Amino acid sequence: MSSSQQPMAESSDGCELPETLRRYYLETMGIQVWDDLATEESTTALIDVPVRPPVDCETWKTLQQTVTACTLCELHQSRTQTVFGVGDLQADLLVIGEAPGHDEDKQGEPFVGRAGQLLTAMLLAIGLQRDEVYIANILKCRPPNNRDPEASEIDSCNHYLRQQIELIQPKAILAVGRIAAQALLQSTATIGSMRGKQHSYEGVPLIASYHPAYLLRKPSEKRKSWQDLLLVKSLLEQCQ
Ligand code: URA
Repeated sequence: MSSSQQPMAESSDGCELPETLRRYYLETMGIQVWDDLATEESTTALIDVPVRPPVDCETWKTLQQTVTACTLCELHQSRTQTVFGVGDLQADLLVIGEAPGHDEDKQGEPFVGRAGQLLTAMLLAIGLQRDEVYIANILKCRPPNNRDPEASEIDSCNHYLRQQIELIQPKAILAVGRIAAQALLQSTATIGSMRGKQHSYEGVPLIASYHPAYLLRKPSEKRKSWQDLLLVKSLLEQCQ
C-alpha cells in the first residue's frame, strides 16, 4: 500500500498532515506504515530514523504562560515583555543565545536586531530557513542596558529552557556566545576554547560558537564561525 493510501493521511479538517506527524500517529496506533520503496537501502534508512512525538501543545502553552507571568528574578520589573522563543517546535536544530536585547524586548521575539539578521543569514548559509529551527535564549527577560546576565538570573530562568529542550527534543544545539555556552555546559571556559568541537547537553550534541553580535564587531572571526556552522550541518546530516 502506498503512503498516500493510508487512512490517516488527512486530518479531520481535510488538511494534509506533515509526514512525520502522520507516521507518529500511525505508529502510535500500532498501524504499520508501508511505503512505495523500491530498494532495501531506502527501506533501512526509513526504519533507522527515530519518530519524534509532536510537542504536547498544552504543556508548551502552559510553559509559555508561566514564563509570561514570571517574577522569579528582578528582571521582570524592567522588561517590556518576556521573550519565550520562536520557530518550529519539531526543529532538528535549537539555537540558544544569551538574553533579549532592546529590539527583542520590544518585539517579544529573540534575535530580531542586527545580530539576529546575521544569525538568520548564518543559518541560511547552511541551508536552514529561520523558521525551520527553534531559537531561544538563556534568559527570557532583557537585562537592563544589555549587561551580562547575573548567575542568579541564569539559575532562576534555567528550568524554562530545560523544559523547552525536553519538549522540542532537538537533534543538535547551537549555543552562540560565551554566556550561552558556559551556562549550558556548566563551564567557565572561554568561547574560543569551547568552539570548534562537539559537546553534549543532556545527551544532545552541542556546538558552541561566537555570538553574531561579536561577529558584527569582529568580522575576521566569521571564518571560524563558518567552521562551527559546518559542524552543525554535518551533525544534522548524520541524524537524517
Ligand atoms: N542577543 C541574544 O543573545 N539574544 C537575542 O535574542 C538577541 C541578541
